Amino acid sequence: YSLAVPSIATLSPYRPGKPAGELERELGLTDIVSLASNENPLGPSPLALAAATASLSRLERYPDGAGFELKAALHKAYGISSDRLTLGNGSNELLNLAARAFVRPGDEVIYSQYAFVAYSIAAKACQAQAVEVPARDYGHDLHAMATAVSERTRLIYLANPNNPTGTSFSEAELRAFLDSVPERVIVVLDEAYTEYVDPQAGLPNGLELVDDYPNLIVTRTFSKAFGLAGLRVGFAVANGQISDLMNRIREPFNVNAAALAAASAALEDHDYLQRTLENNRRGRRQLSEGLERLGLEFLASQGNFVTLELKREAQPVFEALLRQGVIVRPLQPYAMPRHLRVTVGTERENSRFLEALARVLSC
Ligand code: PMP
Repeated sequence: YSLAVPSIATLSPYRPGKPAGELERELGLTDIVSLASNENPLGPSPLALAAATASLSRLERYPDGAGFELKAALHKAYGISSDRLTLGNGSNELLNLAARAFVRPGDEVIYSQYAFVAYSIAAKACQAQAVEVPARDYGHDLHAMATAVSERTRLIYLANPNNPTGTSFSEAELRAFLDSVPERVIVVLDEAYTEYVDPQAGLPNGLELVDDYPNLIVTRTFSKAFGLAGLRVGFAVANGQISDLMNRIREPFNVNAAALAAASAALEDHDYLQRTLENNRRGRRQLSEGLERLGLEFLASQGNFVTLELKREAQPVFEALLRQGVIVRPLQPYAMPRHLRVTVGTERENSRFLEALARVLSC
């Protein structure tokens, strides 16, 4: 075929974690532990589930294309007015919309080594030149990223905390970076994992920076701490002009009715969010202590996952874990062939993973 954007032919499709159902069928196992996709191990919030279920009685209707109620709920939760919001079919759609709105063929898009793969897909699909800046200690080297900005740079993706490394940068580092980037360059700050951050860690809250930086777009998701990955809903916060442009190019009904209803309810379920964060705090500690006992190194994480280093090829370990019914994430797409990423699960799931890993490594 003659492609509108020739570089599409060079893209690798996003590779999701192996579905548990597939492994069940392959191995005839039943008790599969799926710790591959940074999902919430507690299941959905009961309030969100009830709201999504109730929305199904109106399936003949289009969803509210403007997302009035969810925007009102976001205003109540975060104090953001609706003219600064764009709702997305997952935050992934918003990462793409930012590129589609602002990036022209031949422009440069900057992101860090070990960045979420969706950034390079979004950049290349716009015929942009992707500029990957080497990481420092597996995290963003913001100084080097600022130095990489050229006349042709149009957009920069940052993630705080970063997936798949769990690394993070401080508010002072972020502000220094934003101060040094010209205003004509759009900065997308991906905060998909922000709810999990240790409150003492001094990390920025991107939503509070949007007023100070007219070129900043902050993206958030309901897929992680709010437990709604299957429904696909996220939001972007930026100044009114940017939000207006993003809303012009999104599809009219990009967020479905069940997702809108569930997300509004999830924002009200403070008890669920607290349980989620408490489970994550305990689980991160359980995994860290377990990995230390196995003599393994891992990256300090502010997310709902831990990335460990095996000092040998990770693929065979990943496959051996599959045979034990434990699905984690190999990181070849990130050029980290000796690392595995494991999502924080329930206490039982974390134990299953640690026991399986101990068995695999002792073979
Ligand atoms: N950003 C990062 C850093 C992620 O890890 C993910 C999901 N893996 C996303 C964005 C996209 O999440 P969603 O589309 O489900 O909101």
